[in-house]
Amino acid sequence: MTPALELRGVEKAYNRGRPGEVVVLRGVDLAVAPGEVVALVAPSGAGKSTLLHIAGLLDTADAGEVRIGGRAMGGPSDRARTGARRVEAGFVYQFPHLLREFSALENVVLPQLANGVPRGAAAERAAELLARVGLAGRAGHRPAELSGGEQQRVAFCRALANAPRLLLADEPTGNLDPVTSDRVFAVLMDLVRGTGLAALIATHNLELAARMDRIVRLEQGRIIAPGAA
Ligand code: ADP
Repeated sequence: MTPALELRGVEKAYNRGRPGEVVVLRGVDLAVAPGEVVALVAPSGAGKSTLLHIAGLLDTADAGEVRIGGRAMGGPSDRARTGARRVEAGFVYQFPHLLREFSALENVVLPQLANGVPRGAAAERAAELLARVGLAGRAGHRPAELSGGEQQRVAFCRALANAPRLLLADEPTGNLDPVTSDRVFAVLMDLVRGTGLAALIATHNLELAARMDRIVRLEQGRIIAPGAA
């Protein structure tokens, strides 16, 4: 089966060749199959965000290859990358980063409008996604009227608004108290399982990591699977 995401020999440094050079990724190889949920575990500063940004086409690698759904993403122009990013990958961060002036529903509608979906269809999909995460009754609320866990659930819906094949999440429950984190993570897993998309989820939380299909570790710029030398 063609992997949803494939990274081959991905290298990345900041300030390359200049004072303050930080070599972060030294040849990352990783494949995530459609429907597979992979935990990316590493200490802070190891390069998880860098890896996720490159996988999600928000940043470019210095060397190596990124394939999404079997398509090489290294070459395309910025315009093509932006288009691919919008439909291929959904992003979730530690903080929800919702638009404060807009309702939960509108926060899930807007990325679809940007992708050319008509408003009616976008609103229908947004309402359906919000219902799936238990927020049908909160669709008209603005972020300030929602709890942290509820805001993060809206952020999950926004990430899935354009039905990407890949979900990339950077400590998605890292800012929530343990009980809320547990519940919100369960919602995320249900959503991912229900849509069959592939997910790469960075976390410090080993309990959450153990609930995913597979754990990979990022160490010294490379991916190490558990048990591997
Ligand atoms: P993690 O997500 O695992 O905490 P990051 O990918 O954010 O790690 O960062 C990896 C390393 O790269 C860190 O040492 C960080 O300080 C450095 N770094 C991240 N972004 C930049 C940048 N824009 N310029 C310079 N160094 C950076």
